[in-house]
Amino acid sequence: MGAQANFFDQVTQYFNEAARFTTYAPGLLEQIRVCNSVYRFDFPLRRGDTIEVIHAWRVEHSHHKLPVKGGIRYSPDVYEEEVMALAALMTYKCAIVDVPFGGAKGGIKIEPTHYSTDELERITRRYAHELTKKNFLGPGIDVPAPDYGTGEREMAWMADTYAALNPGQLDAIGCVTGKPVTQGGVRGRKEATGRGLYFALREACNEPDEMKRLGLSTGLDGKRIVVQGLGNVGYHAAKFCREGGGILIAIAEREGAIMNLKGLNEDEVFTHRKATGSILNFPGATNIESTAAALELECDVLLPAALESVFTRENAPRIKAKIILEGANGPTTPEADPIFRDKGMLVIPDIYCNAGGVTVSYFEWLKNLSHVRFGRMQKRHEQANELAMLKAIEDATGRRFSDAERAAIAKGPDEQDLVNSGLEETMIAAFHDLLKTQRETNGIPDLRIAAFVNAIHKVARSYSELGIFP
Ligand code: NAD
Repeated sequence: MGAQANFFDQVTQYFNEAARFTTYAPGLLEQIRVCNSVYRFDFPLRRGDTIEVIHAWRVEHSHHKLPVKGGIRYSPDVYEEEVMALAALMTYKCAIVDVPFGGAKGGIKIEPTHYSTDELERITRRYAHELTKKNFLGPGIDVPAPDYGTGEREMAWMADTYAALNPGQLDAIGCVTGKPVTQGGVRGRKEATGRGLYFALREACNEPDEMKRLGLSTGLDGKRIVVQGLGNVGYHAAKFCREGGGILIAIAEREGAIMNLKGLNEDEVFTHRKATGSILNFPGATNIESTAAALELECDVLLPAALESVFTRENAPRIKAKIILEGANGPTTPEADPIFRDKGMLVIPDIYCNAGGVTVSYFEWLKNLSHVRFGRMQKRHEQANELAMLKAIEDATGRRFSDAERAAIAKGPDEQDLVNSGLEETMIAAFHDLLKTQRETNGIPDLRIAAFVNAIHKVARSYSELGIFP
């Protein structure tokens, strides 16, 4: 397992580095750092005439706020310290974007492509059942979401299982987020992590001093982007960054990578991969022999969106990107981080920039608790006000608005508009908080440590409000 074996230690190293910039008592820092509950369990799966034992985890890192929240990962590489690390990152992430949850994470050690849909459904439902029995699932307790290898379908199975075990519980559907819209999901959740990554990159690129330091022009326009992983996060981040003016010069997947300096379209590449089973041999693009080689291409922005520990002591010196936008959780090891720092690169850290998913999950949870679609009450009211305003302007100025202008201005926000607006506000505000902390605290070396410092302050404040620590 190599470098991955100590993912929790890696997170702890970052935490300890940041803790030096605070003055909290060692006991409080220890309480923030440790995982509060680690539940490991096994259950049988019948496959034809044989029984296979499935290994699973749910880790609740911090109960300073409830419910706790974090995704569920299906991967053959899942192991306990990985789930612990991902749960810890969730605590810090929620604090950074002011989402009022503690952190958690779950994992099942399977390669999902090796199981039928029926088997995956049985595994997921059994997992949800086990969590419910042990009080590790519920809208006020622990609220999972999708992560690597899972999506809307798995969340719908979990919500249905929980609801079946809790008949009549009014808020049962809020026990998971990332559900299909027809099953209590919120519009905009699926693409939220990718959209949030775009907002984070756009904010960074709009900082003239930072761009000047990197030798880049201000703004996202024309920035050359390399993406690793064309799953939910990578696909959507690629899409929004391209639409925002970036050029996707390379996309890497498990089977290899492709490059076209004139630009790739993630949608066409996705369709090609679906049809041929591989990203390779995409018309007009050059094949690159491996994902690893693609990471070392000359580019402005490198966007890892697959798994952790991608940048190590070994390959970090060869990375030529100016900006690393951490879509995946934990792609940069603590050994690679100082190398990037010495090279003057800008690393936009995972615990901030991929927080769009949990932010919109929070909106979904609020929607589930309120039992009403966002925008339902105010859309028509706001539209009527906007139309009245347009009419007043027309009467006063004699100018007539075209139908297209009228439709664009007097729209009244629907659920998707409100979700996107809440996400944009969250990502912008959090970015400037990090920048402020980095600029105003003597010695903080980069945005990652600034992000950890902000997270530690917020969790510590929460404990002192509870009266647990003075
Ligand atoms: P996903 O399963 O939808 O996609 C992952 C993609 O990475 C797949 O297409 C897979 O084939 C590819 N991949 C795997 N190994 C690879 C390799 N060696 N090289 C290139 N590609 C490879 O998962 P996802 O939900 O997009 O999650 C990706 C990362 O983002 C994970 O680290 C996850 O923890 C993190 N993340 C996800 C969310 C979310 O909302 N889904 C939120 C925050 C962070």
